Amino acid sequence: MSKLHQDRIANVASRLVRTNNDVIFVTPGADLRYLTGYDALPLERLTCLAIRSNGDAWMIVPTLEKPSALAHHVPDMGIELLDWQETQDPYSILLKSVGSITQPLVNNLMWVEKAFGLQGASQVNVELAGKLLSDIREVKTEHEIACLHEAGAAIDAVHDKMHLWLRPGRTEREVGKDIAEAILAAGHVTVDFVIVASGPNGASPHHELSDRVIESGDPVVVDIGGTMASGYCSDCTRMYVCGSAPAEYLEYYAVLFAAQEAARLHARPGVTCESVDAAARDILVSAGLGDQFIHRTGHGIGMETHEEPYIVTGNKSLLVPGHAFSIEPGFYFAGKYGARIEDIVTCNQDGILSANNTSRELVIL
Ligand code: ZN
Ligand code: ZN
Repeated sequence: MSKLHQDRIANVASRLVRTNNDVIFVTPGADLRYLTGYDALPLERLTCLAIRSNGDAWMIVPTLEKPSALAHHVPDMGIELLDWQETQDPYSILLKSVGSITQPLVNNLMWVEKAFGLQGASQVNVELAGKLLSDIREVKTEHEIACLHEAGAAIDAVHDKMHLWLRPGRTEREVGKDIAEAILAAGHVTVDFVIVASGPNGASPHHELSDRVIESGDPVVVDIGGTMASGYCSDCTRMYVCGSAPAEYLEYYAVLFAAQEAARLHARPGVTCESVDAAARDILVSAGLGDQFIHRTGHGIGMETHEEPYIVTGNKSLLVPGHAFSIEPGFYFAGKYGARIEDIVTCNQDGILSANNTSRELVIL
């Protein structure tokens, strides 16, 4: 894969020329993994990639991480590998190799401690990379799209087995533990989140597992995801009810189902991100559920669960082939219940393909 990563680094360098920045610094996280394939530990010790606009690149790692960097073939992709020992100053070692800098960028999720370290050692203010990196990462290659569909199939396999775990009398935490094991068994290497939000807890979109006992008639929001060995993430929400849900809930759910479907039918290359949000939102608003739809319709997904492009009012960016994002409208009634239907979809030349393909109907258990 080193040719792939060399190309990505060269792409960053050419964009630095366009933005008049001379260097970008990138610390461990999805940006570093995307650019180099190296999933370095985010430690208090400095690991940092530096790419100059002329294409030269360095990576400094703590000496004890050097075997790991070598195992990830860092020097094979044209990156000069530097290391620093416990009592040395890594910032000055890195900057000595990189040379003088005037307009440096740092990746958005760099720890402030590291950004200040770079500023202190260089005496130059750093700026956020912003769209320089996200513009590259948000347009996926065919291989990346395949990885996202593989992740989608893996999380679908977990939703398919929900009847084994979700039933009245069990706590959300007990159900969540079973789901987490199944996420790993389905091929993910990490469990990133497990939301089991029963009854009134469903009104909190990011509810954390609790000891609430699931009752008969509870609608249950199950939103789950993990990361595959490829580095790509899954994220899918399905709705379950143990027994029979309240009649008005079924009416609201039918509206939500139509809203989610409308957004999927609307999404295609050439339409704006905000128009996909509107396609779902308009239906919920018309049915009087606008105030209950308290979040955007979706987010991009790749090596991070949430990344560009965001499917939100105000985002006038056009969808293009290679985009991957969620479509996940919901409604939330405080103290009563909530609902969300979520698919990851990928954009191709003709339209979109869904990475999640289990039934979107309310599943009666
Ligand atoms: Zn999501
Ligand atoms: Zn989700």
